[in-house]
Amino acid sequence: MKRTFVAILAILLVAAHVNVYASPLETLMGLAMGEVAEVPIIMYHALEDTPDNRWEITEKEFESDLRHIVENGYATVVMQDLIDFVHDGKPLPEKPIVLSFDDGRMPTMDIILPMLEKYDAKITMAIIGHETDRYTEIDRQGKVSRHPHMTWDEVIAAHKTGRVEIQSHTYDLHGTIGAKKKKGESVEAYRERLLADLDKFAEILHSYTGIVPNTLVYPLGAISLESDDIIKEAGYLASLSCEEKSNLIRVGDEDSLYSLNRFLRPPHTSSTDFFAKLGDNKMMNEKR
Ligand SMILES: [Zn+2]
Repeated sequence: MKRTFVAILAILLVAAHVNVYASPLETLMGLAMGEVAEVPIIMYHALEDTPDNRWEITEKEFESDLRHIVENGYATVVMQDLIDFVHDGKPLPEKPIVLSFDDGRMPTMDIILPMLEKYDAKITMAIIGHETDRYTEIDRQGKVSRHPHMTWDEVIAAHKTGRVEIQSHTYDLHGTIGAKKKKGESVEAYRERLLADLDKFAEILHSYTGIVPNTLVYPLGAISLESDDIIKEAGYLASLSCEEKSNLIRVGDEDSLYSLNRFLRPPHTSSTDFFAKLGDNKMMNEKR
């Protein structure tokens, strides 16, 4: 009897959500345990008038992406929404998409804030704690009027708009190997070094903003075998990498939130061509 009810519920859930597949045996907060959502994550860095590398795009290209997202029925969500889906079964919109920005760049943030308002969109911004500290100090001394990274005041202002989720891009591990284990480094030494950096970031972010970070965006997408276990130990609930695939996350499967894939948005490409590429790469990343 119960089985039949669950089977009918599964059919209704599938019918209601084109991108959601259910294989429920139990329910959690009204949603099926094991229910899966497909979530593409886009990786942006800085907006520039004349992009001269594959990580920068123009203001026009970003606005065109936002228009494309709205016109094609996507809804922007942030990492907290993915975590709430997996941990608590809180529903996601029908076509969720995460727009992630790396490095905490200015004046990029100033340019995108009005656009996020105009298109009712949200982003996840991963800042480098050390750079934010450094430019906060430079700003205090009045040394430069324009700076490449956000200050803590600018981080707070962005967070207060309710459209920018602030996350960790490490405190100071954005060098040549990112947060990876060094060659010859013992696992224990690596664990201590990474935990110290993660704690420092969390402590300083919290002291300035009251925010507790829950996602690590791996600098350069560089990961070692042990990295996700260490960031779990530090209390991080999700991590983002750089493999260009979409993601499947699952209610009740907390591991499905780690090392999530992202599509790099390159310059000199139309939104239509770029988003078509997402469709081409729909080989989903079934996790565990
Ligand atoms: Zn970066």
